[in-house]
Amino acid sequence: MSRPLSERWRSGLALLISIVVLGGIILFAPAEGPAALRRVLGISDDRLRDPADVPAGGTYAFLAHQPLNSDEPVAWDPCDEIHYEINPDGSPFDDDETEEFVEEAVEVVSHYTGLEFAYDGRTGRRPEWDRQFVPTIGRNEPVLISWATEDEVPQLEDDVAGVGGAIAVEVEPGGWLRYVTGGVTLDSDAFEEIGSVFGDGGERRAILLHELGHLVGLDHVDSADELMFADNVGKRDFDTGDLNGLVAVGNGRCA
Ligand SMILES: [Zn+2]
Repeated sequence: MSRPLSERWRSGLALLISIVVLGGIILFAPAEGPAALRRVLGISDDRLRDPADVPAGGTYAFLAHQPLNSDEPVAWDPCDEIHYEINPDGSPFDDDETEEFVEEAVEVVSHYTGLEFAYDGRTGRRPEWDRQFVPTIGRNEPVLISWATEDEVPQLEDDVAGVGGAIAVEVEPGGWLRYVTGGVTLDSDAFEEIGSVFGDGGERRAILLHELGHLVGLDHVDSADELMFADNVGKRDFDTGDLNGLVAVGNGRCA
């Protein structure tokens, strides 16, 4: 049976921009010591939280691989918190329900990846998926989780219910990339419609989980068994391959 268009999504917008010049500044500005050397060597064990134990199996894919080591994904720093903000404008939820909706899904992703997230509060910032990204030294823009219409965010046109992605910068000599910010933008019209058709059956949560999967570095897979399949075919949660992918992108190097 075909499903309503509004229940499907296609997304996977990945903004991957290597800022080579700033990368050098970011690396060499801190005082170097044994701990810094260990971090450069990628053997720091000061991660904030361990990834989950998950059963083997399934299939997953990375949004991007390290240019000089194609086996390793571009990932976030597991020794640092991923700061995020929420702009609730356009959210179909009332008051604090927006935070509850987002924080529950973020905690799921945090649990499997072992990446720690820190909620910085509400913001009036709007998503700018086409903007040229220039990081500010010493302060990365928090991840922005927001709602928008396709008039504002053309990437939400047609039956796309959400977009998610992250931006990487080169942080070490030799081309090592790390995600430093990113975003998830959910289609406010689609969320309204899905809510009116399905209620709180987990469809909207599944969209957010899927987009958070992109945020932490997962790409689409061909298998409809996984939540990272490009289209929503009724999955309501991560499956085995998704979980293994989340663990993999959670095992990035510490800064
Ligand atoms: Zn997607």
